[in-house]
Amino acid sequence: MSVPPILKLYNTLTRAKEEFTPIDPANVRMYVCGPTVYDYAHIGNARPVIVFDVLFRLLRHVYGEAHVKYVRNITDVDDKINARAAERGISIRELTEETNTIFQADVKALGCLDPTVQPRATEHIAEMIAIMQRLIASGHAYAADGHVLFSVPSMPDYGKLSRRPLDEMIAGARVDVAPYKKADTDFVLWKPSSGSEPGWDSPWGRGRPGWHLECSAMSWKHLGEVFDIHGGGIDLVFPHHENEIAQSRCAFGHDVMANVWMHNGFLQVEGEKMSKSLGNFVTIHELLHTEKFGGHMWSGPVLRLAMLRTHYRQPMDFTSKALEEAKKKIENWIRAVRITLGGEALALGPSSDVIAALADDLNTHSALTALDRMFNTSGDEQAKAHRQLGADLVFLGLASRSELKKPHVEASHVRADEVDALIAARIAARAVKNWAESDRIRDELVAMGVVLKDNKDGTTTWEVKR
Ligand SMILES: [Zn+2]
Repeated sequence: MSVPPILKLYNTLTRAKEEFTPIDPANVRMYVCGPTVYDYAHIGNARPVIVFDVLFRLLRHVYGEAHVKYVRNITDVDDKINARAAERGISIRELTEETNTIFQADVKALGCLDPTVQPRATEHIAEMIAIMQRLIASGHAYAADGHVLFSVPSMPDYGKLSRRPLDEMIAGARVDVAPYKKADTDFVLWKPSSGSEPGWDSPWGRGRPGWHLECSAMSWKHLGEVFDIHGGGIDLVFPHHENEIAQSRCAFGHDVMANVWMHNGFLQVEGEKMSKSLGNFVTIHELLHTEKFGGHMWSGPVLRLAMLRTHYRQPMDFTSKALEEAKKKIENWIRAVRITLGGEALALGPSSDVIAALADDLNTHSALTALDRMFNTSGDEQAKAHRQLGADLVFLGLASRSELKKPHVEASHVRADEVDALIAARIAARAVKNWAESDRIRDELVAMGVVLKDNKDGTTTWEVKR
């Protein structure tokens, strides 16, 4: 056994890179804010999912797979959900189930492992009520007009994470003025639901939770009052994470909610902020299954590699040029590994170079530089380096062991990853009964000389017809 590396992580709370020490030395607990399931996740939503998946993989490597608990919630109660369900004329349940199914398929395609627990907000109403009761009892919250509000002035060090000046917070809160608020900065924990809106019985009448409260309840239930790492996108620092901290700290009486707060930077598309009005709004689903962005479909590993080339704290520009580069790179890497392995199984773990790079505040850029070095190794060391490259690709979620075991077919000009992507797209098309698309993909594959075989167990295998 080699000595486990010292992990250094940048903590938004202290604005410093710190040595990571879990509260329980043998078990790491991490919470990351998950999706609100009302629409397809866009490529900006993919960034935290990928970043924290890399951290999850690193923690599992260092502490052991059974010793890392990663919780990523599903927000399935939200006014955006109510509005969208009404717009589409379907039930809230149908909308959240459908959206969650697509989200899970999208992030699996991006090479992300399943978190240990994916709790749903609607299954944690009792914990939310318990938190509000504690907050009211200790003078940190009050009920008014069927609402429950958090009293920001009751917490002298509110705002420690975002370090926003109080006058700025007051100005921000003014957009949300309501007669039942005692102070402008107070925020909603619970609000009343009308007959048609989803609601639960509570001591304050039938109502539903505010978004911030959901995360405090789910992290408490699954990770305890204080845990190690809390993550999310930088846009969540204020007010979402600030308010999570206020709720959890005041309810449970601790100095912190989580010891380390990690945030990934913004993502823009082709140099511009992504927005529906600019027409550069791109979903993970579209990237994987349509030719809308950059003229063709992109495989999950290509999207993942493009994402990991920028350090997670830096702002990132998502461009079709970067995807083309990532595509070439990953094809070259996989070809080299396949040729070296020649169909043999790979039984290696990650390299110390990759682990050392990731242990330095998830320096994925430097980890990928190590992969380039392995790829460029020549002479006697090449076979060894290319095997290691394969193992690191598996570790980083950029390839699967079974995929690397596949033979390399140069002459046919058929690339296995391309065929696999087309087969996946065809399965997706069939799942939504889009037979025209399914047939179009089959024709495309036939033109490539690929013959499909749909097996009884639902899988599809293929071979190249000469
Ligand atoms: Zn959250």
